[in-house]
Amino acid sequence: MQKENCIFCKIANHEIPSHKVFENEEVLAFLDLSQVTKGHTLVIPKQHADNIYDLSSESAQAVFATVPEISRAIQQETGAAGMNLLSNTGKVAGQSVSHFHLHLIPRHDKHDGFGAKWEVHNEEYTADELATFAESIKNRL
Ligand code: 5GP
Ligand code: ZN
Repeated sequence: MQKENCIFCKIANHEIPSHKVFENEEVLAFLDLSQVTKGHTLVIPKQHADNIYDLSSESAQAVFATVPEISRAIQQETGAAGMNLLSNTGKVAGQSVSHFHLHLIPRHDKHDGFGAKWEVHNEEYTADELATFAESIKNRL
């Protein structure tokens, strides 16, 4: 289902043009307007979901089933040495469009324009605390 005023629903519905790289009944992949590196692609479900919390299993399966093949095609075309797959959820995580999307960002080297800060804080948690925490999450599933 489409959501009113959602730019990615409009792209999925061909109301707004995009540089498409893949399309089937449930999924569309197209070049990001902001090319972090050449070939930077967004994969979206055509059915609207605000973000990963909201995504149905069916849409998730449909989206993720397309990702290896699209990734390989981008890799072959760009000659990228690596690729980052990224989905921002919520403003605090950098989400600017509220329609679930997976970024596929071809990577070449440390200075190619993409970077994620990744500090490890293991000293703040004991093994017991982590075991209890994992159990608590598990109990919510
Ligand atoms: P986010 O910041 O939510 O993780 O990513 C949203 C992405 O959508 C941004 O990288 C932005 O460049 C891209 N974007 C926003 N509007 C459009 C559009 O109209 N067309 C395309 N192709 N990309 C868009
Ligand atoms: Zn939408």
